[in-house]
Amino acid sequence: MTRPHPVYARIDGPIVMIGFGSIGKGTWPLIERHFDYDADRFTVIEPDEGQANFLRQHKLNHVQVALTPDNYREVLGGLLEPGKGFCVNLSVDTSSLDLMRFCREIGVPYIDTVVEPWAGYYFNTTDNAARTNYALRQAVRDEKAANPGGTTAVSCCGANPGMVSWFVKEGLMTLARDLGRDATPPATRAGWATLMQSLGVQGVHIAERDTQARRVPRPRGVFVNTWSVEGFIAEGFQPAELGWGTHEPWFPENGHRHETGCQSAIWLERPGAITRVHTWCPTPGPQFGFLVTHNEAISISDYYTVGEAGAPEYRPTCHYAYHPCDDAVLSLHEMFGSGRTQDKHHILTEDEIVEGIDELGVLLYGHERNALWFGSRLSNEETRDLAPYQNATGLQVTSAVLAGMVWALENPGAGIVEADEMDHARCLEVQRPYLGPVEAHYTDWTPLQDRWELFPEDIDPNEPWAFRNVLAS
Ligand code: NAD
Repeated sequence: MTRPHPVYARIDGPIVMIGFGSIGKGTWPLIERHFDYDADRFTVIEPDEGQANFLRQHKLNHVQVALTPDNYREVLGGLLEPGKGFCVNLSVDTSSLDLMRFCREIGVPYIDTVVEPWAGYYFNTTDNAARTNYALRQAVRDEKAANPGGTTAVSCCGANPGMVSWFVKEGLMTLARDLGRDATPPATRAGWATLMQSLGVQGVHIAERDTQARRVPRPRGVFVNTWSVEGFIAEGFQPAELGWGTHEPWFPENGHRHETGCQSAIWLERPGAITRVHTWCPTPGPQFGFLVTHNEAISISDYYTVGEAGAPEYRPTCHYAYHPCDDAVLSLHEMFGSGRTQDKHHILTEDEIVEGIDELGVLLYGHERNALWFGSRLSNEETRDLAPYQNATGLQVTSAVLAGMVWALENPGAGIVEADEMDHARCLEVQRPYLGPVEAHYTDWTPLQDRWELFPEDIDPNEPWAFRNVLAS
């Protein structure tokens, strides 16, 4: 019997999925569709009773346990088989570094969507530098440097971090073509960095607007989001962070640099989810986004650095500029205003959402054409036709996990990699059928426009895209 969707590979041995929340539940049907494997060798590790019911209903093998530093080797060791299968980590509160290290030790390919720490890490210290994504990512980069090559482990391969790194490359190709330059994809990291520099790109916003909404208003006391509430609260309370570019003429008063590692980023003494930035997306045009810390802000600035880490000749500024769905904005407002997190969490399902899209792209700015947004404008309505058990936000993530798994199986000895280091064309080829309209939009807008003239601000009129102008006062 021919299958209606392309089957990319056969996976022999056990597939173990860790975590079956909004992303795990949406990834499972894509794995089922696009790989050939023995269904009775697919097992989910998931502690939550609500998710367990779904797993039982769908007759999926299930171990109802939370992984901890004490049990992960035993639990995973009992399920995985050396040199075979796949480990797909889509949980919160588990150490990505420990899990990937163990999988590589036994030769099992591994993928995750974020560098997650063990439970407690985000809130158990008052040392803000230690709570940064810079610190989490650098630990994975140090592991890669200490143990190069070996079994492939794909780090941070969701929508963002993940897919957006492939969009940066597609955006650069689009810009090169439109400026009449050579648009042959470079073969090396240094080549990509020099290309971005030569195109005059000063920086990148990961510019997202989520307009998905349901019919009923958000009840007070409930944190509503379109993906992990726990994950969003954790990252929202981390310090704001951004890759810090060489064109920046000013340094924020509450900013801190790092003395070790790739040194591509800085962090601010302020939670990301209440730090607003001016940005731009196709649907709203100019808008506020939140400067929520993300791995890709650091990795993209690192990847596109020309010259020495500590004294680069060129580096782009890069940060997330996130306008989550309106219910999530209200939830943040309530949480930060009251000083405590809501007890009730809710992730909007594809069935209750009545309108809206997740518009997620990269805004490459500061060049001859001013700014180019390149990204996916996937609606919840289209998502319902494309794949089950997820909204538009979910499908942008799960289809990136699928692409990352395909790439890992095609490149089994690549060691630890981030999305920037993978073949973006191959990954987008796999992912694109799930992304809805993928579009390029130029804009004349800069952060100097649309200010409130009645209240003059301390901005830099000579450097339109300076972070000083992007940061909202
Ligand atoms: P979710 O909160 O819906 O689900 C997380 C699941 O992990 C839950 O079902 C929970 O019970 C389970 N879990 C908690 N502790 C565990 C433990 N110790 N061991 C095993 N399982 C455990 O989250 P989600 O929306 O499915 O997101 C999953 C992960 O993906 C999060 O880390 C999130 O930050 C990440 N994510 C990444 C992107 C991206 O684009 N890169 C986007 C969305 C989510």
